[in-house]
Formats: sequence, structure tokens, C-alpha cells
Amino acid sequence: MRYVSTRGTAPPLGFSDVLLTGLAADGGLYVPESWPRLAVREGATSYVDVAVDVMFPFVEGSIERDDFASMVDDAYAGFDHPDVAPLVQLDDDTWLLELFHGPTLAFKDVALQLVGRLFDHELARRGERVTIVGATSGDTGSAAIEALRDREAIDVVILHPKGRVSDVQRKLMTTVDAPNIRNVAIDGTFDDCQDLVKAMFADVPFRERQRLSAVNSINFARVMAQTVYYVTSQRRLGGPVSFAVPTGNFGNVFSGYGAMRMGVPIRRFVIGSNRNDILTRFLATGTMSISEVHATLSPAMDIQVSSNLERLLFELVGHDGAQIAELMARFRGEGTVTFPSELLDAVSESFSGFRVDDDETTAEIRRTYDETGLVIDPHTAVGVAASRAAGREQGIPMVVLGTAHPAKFPDAVEAAMGVRPELPPHLADLDVRPERVDELPNDLAAVEAYVAELTRA
Ligand SMILES: *Cc1c(COP(=O)(O)O)cnc(C)c1O
Repeated sequence: MRYVSTRGTAPPLGFSDVLLTGLAADGGLYVPESWPRLAVREGATSYVDVAVDVMFPFVEGSIERDDFASMVDDAYAGFDHPDVAPLVQLDDDTWLLELFHGPTLAFKDVALQLVGRLFDHELARRGERVTIVGATSGDTGSAAIEALRDREAIDVVILHPKGRVSDVQRKLMTTVDAPNIRNVAIDGTFDDCQDLVKAMFADVPFRERQRLSAVNSINFARVMAQTVYYVTSQRRLGGPVSFAVPTGNFGNVFSGYGAMRMGVPIRRFVIGSNRNDILTRFLATGTMSISEVHATLSPAMDIQVSSNLERLLFELVGHDGAQIAELMARFRGEGTVTFPSELLDAVSESFSGFRVDDDETTAEIRRTYDETGLVIDPHTAVGVAASRAAGREQGIPMVVLGTAHPAKFPDAVEAAMGVRPELPPHLADLDVRPERVDELPNDLAAVEAYVAELTRA
């Protein structure tokens, strides 16, 4: 399998290079040259067995099948549900796909648990090491830490703004007891943390000496891992299905599109946005334009530019990288771009979008509880509300992606229904686990000295 850049000029790469490279040299994102045809073996029934069959064509040529199968098995062994991604019925024709049974209670675990193992495997094969540095406002940091803990070839330093992440989120990061993980509380804001990370990457001698790297949200391996649950849930329900996906960076829903291209019978995708609605405005008008980021009850979707949308557009223009490069340059330059109407028509064939504001999100948490007895988190509520707005087609079940456990966002849930959701059993003692965190000033030299001292790179 070879991968090509959405901007057409970077060299095609194999899977292992795509894994470690992240962004393509021409600024584009890698996608498979062609989508493999789904070929799940007769006897494959467990999540892991199906996952290996679905994903192996993407890694073939880079990883041996047995090695890959054992990494997949290992990645999902720690999930607290035997189905990994169970389906729960909400009403006659609506199902909730629970993607939050991993260690940090959000769907990002499904991809990152595998990606951490793929990184380690490939680095060991090459005899290389990396230092992952990242800034987090809470959510991604914990998923990355859990995925990369105890990996031989990887050191991890995650910066968070001191006193500005929620208790649950901080503890999910700081209670991890692993020799290769460091949490640093920075005396500053999230933006300060992000600026420090950018400055470390911009310091080329430092970056090269420490072999800095990132488990990027645009890494194709994450897209690949997320195609699997679209396959397993359609197989459970049989016949064509539709999916409603609460969306930020367009990564999760693009994985669904990939599954469709591989042959899964999917009727359409309903995109749910919060107040940060660049995607739903694009679907309504054909114009994509940047606006300010607003803080909402679903913070993992507080995103201005949905970078993975570029992958979909590239698919829909028949892999014309020059056209995508030109549209993206205009978007970067002017902050707004209007797409050709044929392109918008092609998107609209499979996707519709709905914006759900905080009041509607709160109302949906309450309504879902009243009607089904299930407690859902604010991100999932955006998906459920969007699926309601989209309506139903006769005989086509709707699967809503449940992207976080309600206990990860207890304040929003409590405000909506007056009851505070409890952490699942494996995290019940989170409050009393010892925390490991170092504190540093908002100062590049201090942070670089800290990274240089601990890393084994
Ligand atoms: C990251 C995240 C999303 C958005 O996923 P994208 O792939 O960025 O669209 C939705 N919900 C939760 C809980 C998340 O952590």
C-alpha cells in the first residue's frame, strides 16, 4: 500500500514512513493511493479479529501480519468492555456506539492505543528513539500518555496550564506511573503551553538533538484505526446504516467515509457541530471561512479549522492535488474560500450537518436520559441532537457515535440532569492515586533544559 499527499507534490510513502512523518512535505495529508476492498474472514467475529482483517491491507508491506495482530490484540486488551465498542439501542431505529471504554474514557483511545504500539514497533525496528512533546488543555494529553506509557523507544513530556484543567483530566495524566512519562504544570495558560511547544519545534538544533516528534491528530494511522468500528457496527445491524458523528477535526467522520469506500453499506453521515460550526456553515453555503473559537460544553470540538476535511475534498476531486493545494492556499491566505458547486454537491451526497448550541446540548442530555435512562456526555449529546434534526429514512438505522464517557464531563452532565455521573470501576480510586507532576515557569529555556535532562533520545 502506498500513500499520496493531498497536495500532490510530496513523494508517495509506505505505511511506516507515513506513520512517523505526520504532515507531508508539501503541507498536505497522506491518504491511501486507493482504498482496499473490505475482506473480513468468515470466522472473524471479535472486535480484534475484524480489526486485523480491516486494517492489515493498510500496513501490508511495512508490518508482518503476526506482529500487527499481536499489537491490535494488545491495544484493545485494556478496554473495559468485551466488545471494545458496544452498540446500545436508544429507540426503534437509533443506536449508540460506545467508543469510551478505553483507559481515558474517550474515543481517541481507540486509535491512540494502537498508534502508540505502532510507533514503538517501528522505532525499535529502525533502532531509533523519539521524544514526544505536547500541550494539552486536558483531553488529548491523557489519551496520548496512556497510549505511550512504558514504550521503550519513546519519551513523553506533556505540558498543561497549572490550575486550569479539570480535576479528572489532570489526574488521568498525573497518576500514570511510568518511567517515560513526564507531566509539567506550566505557570500560564493553555496558549502559553502551546507556544512553548511550537517554540521547541522551531528551535531546530534542539528539535534535532532531542528527536522531537508528535502523535499528530492528522496521522493517517489514527484514521485507519477508526474505520474499524464503522465496520463492526454495520455488521451487527446488517443492511445499510447511517451514522451521526459529533465532529471537530473531521477525523472520526472521515474514517467513516473510508469505511464506506472500502465497501461498508453506509447511507449517509450526519455531522454534529457545536457553536464552532465551520463545517455546518460550509455544508450549507459551500464557503469555508475562519471565525473565532468559542468555548463550549463540548471542548474537544472547539476547533476552528477541521484539517481532515482536506482528505475528503481530495477524494472528491479525484486525487487532483493541484486543485486542493490551490484551494487551501486561498483559504490560508484570505481566511475564506468558496468551493466549486460540483464539489459541494459531491459532499452533500453523503454528508449533512447540524449545529447544536450549549442550551440544546444540555436539553439533549436531559431528554435522552428521560427517554432511555442513559446518561450521555455533551459531545455525544451533540451527535444525538444532530441525528434528531436530520430525521430518519425508512428502514435505515441511525448509529450515533458516543465519543466520551459522561464522567469525563461531570459538571455539564450534573448541570443538565442534577445527578453527577460516576467514574467506571477501573478509575474509581482515581482521587486517591498519587500524582506525579513537575512545575515550571512559562520560560522556554527552563522547559528545554528540563526536556534535555530527562530524555534518552
Ligand atoms: C476529539 C473528540 C471529538 C472530535 O473528533 P474529531 O475526530 O476531531 O472530529 C469528539 N468528541 C470527543 C469526546 C473528542 O475527544
